[in-house]
Amino acid sequence: MAYVANPRIGAVLVTVVTAKYSSRLLKCPPYRRHGGLEQRVSGTQDESGSGKRRSVSISFIEQFLRQGQQGRLAALLVGKLDAFNRIATTFGRERCEEFCSNYTEKLRDILPPRTPIIRLSDRRFAVLLDCDSMSKVLDHAVSLTEDHQPEIAIGDDKLFVDVTLGIAVYPSHADDAETLFRRAELAQKEAREKELAFDIYRPDATQQQAALWKFESDLQGAVQRRELEVYFQPKVEIATRRVCGVEALVRWRSPSGAFIPASEFIPMAERTGTIVPITWLVFDQVAARVAEWDAIQRPFSLAVNVSPPILVHSEFSTRIKALKAALDEHGFGLTIEITEDSLVQGDQSALAGIERLRKLGVDFALDDFGKGYSSLSYLKELPATELKIDKRFIGTIATDTTDREIVKTVVALARALGMRVVAEGIDNAEALAIVTELGCEMAQGFFIGRPMRGDLVPAWIDRYLASASSVSLKVMTPWAEPAVR
Ligand code: C2E
Ligand code: MG
Ligand code: MG
Repeated sequence: MAYVANPRIGAVLVTVVTAKYSSRLLKCPPYRRHGGLEQRVSGTQDESGSGKRRSVSISFIEQFLRQGQQGRLAALLVGKLDAFNRIATTFGRERCEEFCSNYTEKLRDILPPRTPIIRLSDRRFAVLLDCDSMSKVLDHAVSLTEDHQPEIAIGDDKLFVDVTLGIAVYPSHADDAETLFRRAELAQKEAREKELAFDIYRPDATQQQAALWKFESDLQGAVQRRELEVYFQPKVEIATRRVCGVEALVRWRSPSGAFIPASEFIPMAERTGTIVPITWLVFDQVAARVAEWDAIQRPFSLAVNVSPPILVHSEFSTRIKALKAALDEHGFGLTIEITEDSLVQGDQSALAGIERLRKLGVDFALDDFGKGYSSLSYLKELPATELKIDKRFIGTIATDTTDREIVKTVVALARALGMRVVAEGIDNAEALAIVTELGCEMAQGFFIGRPMRGDLVPAWIDRYLASASSVSLKVMTPWAEPAVR
């Protein structure tokens, strides 16, 4: 199975495959033989519980630090094999556990002889390095994550598995084992969040984590108090200048009163699970809002964004059917916007769910096309009716001939697949003129209309229609709708 890497078409696609693990007792010795320490730690094989394992690991690290020579660095690398659910889903948990255990063994061949390796859990491990310089530590990190990136062999194919490392160094970053461990873990978390192969502990990372924690708690509180609000951005059909629908975009006014863009809190909500109540809240608000939109001319479709984990959530089907029923009652259509990650990350059950909903009359749009990774075979299978070209291509379309070529190619691809193309992020007349010329059927962007409160939508449409009948869409000035942030 190969995937095509966007945004620059043509590059070979890397498949990131990983699997879910179960936390079991250590199946192999938790560390590489190192000096005379093995006796003290071997008892962990009989002990259960990650807390116990952690404390044993810390005392092992402590002894390693004590043995270190003056003037040398002791680096702790905490590593995690990422995204295991795909291996587990595709090949079963046993295969996944076998892979993890083999990987820890392989580390012994990659690292210098007698390097202590601690197996923290099925997919987490720690490595202790005794080095004379920071650049040696980094060489080892590059070697582990790039030169020897783990792979899993499936038949004739070799699929890469991501490994993320966090590094903390004694004595520069901490002068005791417990703090060193915590800081290496923090660096590992940071690396994962920043999508880096590895990261080194930074002294301000602790404060940043605390700030992030507060941000997460504030968001959870706002969701519980139902303080989030749904705004709607119009989508127009270029040829007829008809407003064919609106996209629901969630908005959060933070405790300080400032609007926080969805692009800032949605990724975090996806990581923490808060995306689940946020999605249901959006569905509820959309369902309630359409009851006030009788004056809007049909056909008219409401689009909701659905993150990859929601597509496979147990309540998703029931919730979406309830939303569909509410929209049907008022004669509105429903479109679900999903991103390319839904196809790459998701398993076949996501695709099967999409097909079931298509049969019920729900439309699908592939959002932000070009931003992530697309498998052409999935794209062919996906019963989507719309393909939304990511705004990063549209923003530079007037000046970047490559982006123009890409949009042209995507339009041709969408035609071949029977999908209509929406150009998103149209924020000036020139961009609208170019996408029209390139054959995009629909447009959405600040130039046409900003996301707005639900109560403003019917009046906005009236004004738009009055203006569009007298003024060419290409030179139409943007609506004086207040910016939402
Ligand atoms: P998206 O679905 O691609 O939504 C379009 C984003 O582009 C919106 O940002 C919109 O405000 C912005 N946009 C629209 N026209 C223009 C333009 O002309 N220029 C520029 N620069 N930007 C434009 P927003 O609302 O911050 O949302 C960002 C992303 O967050 C969305 O991208 C979507 O992926 C996600 N999101 C928003 N609401 C929800 C939601 O209710 N559920 C989920 N799962 N994701 C959501
Ligand atoms: Mg969208
Ligand atoms: Mg988009």
